[in-house]
Formats: sequence, structure tokens, C-alpha cells
Amino acid sequence: MPSVIAILFDMDNTLLDFVRYKRETAKAAAKAMVAHGLPATEQEAYNRIFKVYQEKGIEYQKTFYDVVAPYNLELNKAEKIQHAGIIAYQKRKFEVLKPYPGVKETLATLRRRGFLLGIVSDAPRNKVWDRLIMSGLEDMFDVVVSHSDTQQLKPHPTPFQLALKQLKVSASHVLFVGDDPSRDIKGAKALGMKTALAKYGETWKKHKDLCDSADYHLERIGDLLKLL
Ligand SMILES: [Mg+2]
Repeated sequence: MPSVIAILFDMDNTLLDFVRYKRETAKAAAKAMVAHGLPATEQEAYNRIFKVYQEKGIEYQKTFYDVVAPYNLELNKAEKIQHAGIIAYQKRKFEVLKPYPGVKETLATLRRRGFLLGIVSDAPRNKVWDRLIMSGLEDMFDVVVSHSDTQQLKPHPTPFQLALKQLKVSASHVLFVGDDPSRDIKGAKALGMKTALAKYGETWKKHKDLCDSADYHLERIGDLLKLL
């Protein structure tokens, strides 16, 4: 792809194994909440956490409050259980938020080859930086666009356009890499970027009908080095 000078990445489930992160932290939180008196099994507590994520979104900030509230417990007991969940989650997250195998090496190689690199994420700005720092990727990118910057979610064109503006490149010189055909690939393609679908995560499976719309499929992040 001789015309490509910049590569934009989605973050969660493209660079970072976010599904594993959410599962492992939920497991730890469920265990701690039950140990502190939540009248449920660990499996029930775990399922309730994911039910809240499903209803309120994966970036919802009051998940553990919502998990405990329906039990109508006395206030101090409820807050003890809620905060036991929060602390267990926080403690576990540093251990489990990791890039997929090969991500660091691939990004370093692309930088060495002179490509401009950027992130376009639907996560809020503070979460983007938390996750990049926890996974050791914070120095790899020339631009970082988060949901906080435009208040729009992919596939809306605005977040993609902001990244282009900051990189000072036109869409035809950009390859976009993401795991969600309905957001990443659709949005990038609509602006005229080339697109690569990360098929090592789990999201693409929910949109199998849309997968063929991507120009390239990546079985691992390192496949990018063969394309470029
Ligand atoms: Mg993603």
C-alpha cells in the first residue's frame, strides 16, 4: 500500500484485549462482593455486572452501585459491598489489561518505518490514557482522539475527521484498523480510508455479515507488517 502514510487504530479489542479485561475484573469484583455479604452466588453477581454493562454501556461509571441496589440492603452494608467490588476491580485491572501478542513490536516497527500512528477510540479521554499507560502503549501515537473530544461515537465521521486534521493527512493516505465492522470499518470506509478488520478479537463475530466490507482481514496484528 504505497499511498498509506498514517495508520489509525481503534483501541479496545483491537490493541488491547478488553473483553478479557472486563471478564477478569468482573470475576474479581463478584468474588469480593459475595465475600463482603452480597446475598448472591459469585456467578449471579458476575452476571449482574454484565447485565449492567449491557443496559448502561461498558463505560458506565456506577456499575457496582447498580449491582448492589436491588438487594435493598442497609446503607452501610450496601456501601461496604459496593466498595469491596470497586477495590477488587481496581486491584485486578493492572494485572489483566494487556495488549494482544505482537502489538508493541508491530507498533514499534511501524514507527521505525516512518508511519504516523493514531488512536480513534469511543472511550472517554481519561479511560483512553489509563488503558494506554497500563498496557505500556502511551508513547506510540502521534494523535489520540477519544469520545470526549467530539462527543460522537464511530461510525460518525467527526472523530475520524479530527484525527485526520491533527495528523494533517487526507483520508486516502490512511489505513484504519479496528475490530468492529459496524463502527470502525463502516466509518473509516465512508470517508475513503483503507480498512483492516482485526479478526483476533471477538466483536467481528457479532457482525459477520459486514466483515467483507473491510479491505483486509488481520488474523494477528503483526499481519499489518506484510500489508504495508
Ligand atoms: Mg474496539
